Parts: sequence; C-alpha cells; structure tokens
Amino acid sequence: MNLFIDPQEADVVKLGGGNLDEAMKSQIDSAITREAEDRWRCGVRKCTKLFLEEKFVRSHIQKRHKDWLERLSLEVTLGQSTSNM
Ligand SMILES: [Zn+2]
Repeated sequence: MNLFIDPQEADVVKLGGGNLDEAMKSQIDSAITREAEDRWRCGVRKCTKLFLEEKFVRSHIQKRHKDWLERLSLEVTLGQSTSNM
C-alpha cells in the first residue's frame, strides 16, 4: 500500500525550508565516520578527533566547526537558489 504519505515528508515538501536542513544534515552525516561501536570520528577538514558517541561528535561539530557549518549552509543555500532558477 503506497497510498499513505509520510506526514513528515509531506511537510518538508510543503514548507520547502526543510530541504535546506536535509542537505545540511546529509553533509554533516558524511563528515562523521563510525569506525566502531564506540568510535565516531569527526572528518571536518583536517579534524580527526574521535568520540565515544554520535551525539558527542555532533555537538563537537556544532561548537568547534561553526565556520564550516556557516560555509556549508551558505553553499547549500546558494546551490538551492541556483537550481530553482
Ligand atoms: Zn572536528
């Protein structure tokens, strides 16, 4: 049965802004490498710090890689506006 639409997915499409968050999220996800059960590596630029839990590496990125995040959101925003034209 494919008649049911995921309400969250529908909201993302409707609001449009959700796509930005999704694009950011996938970029952040790709910067994080899970090497073992309790080894999460930050792969932002030259950073290779290891963390015990996913939430630690995520908060580390939020705190220590603000410039990277800002650049990322800029790139994502620019990429979106270009593709919409
Ligand atoms: Zn890092």
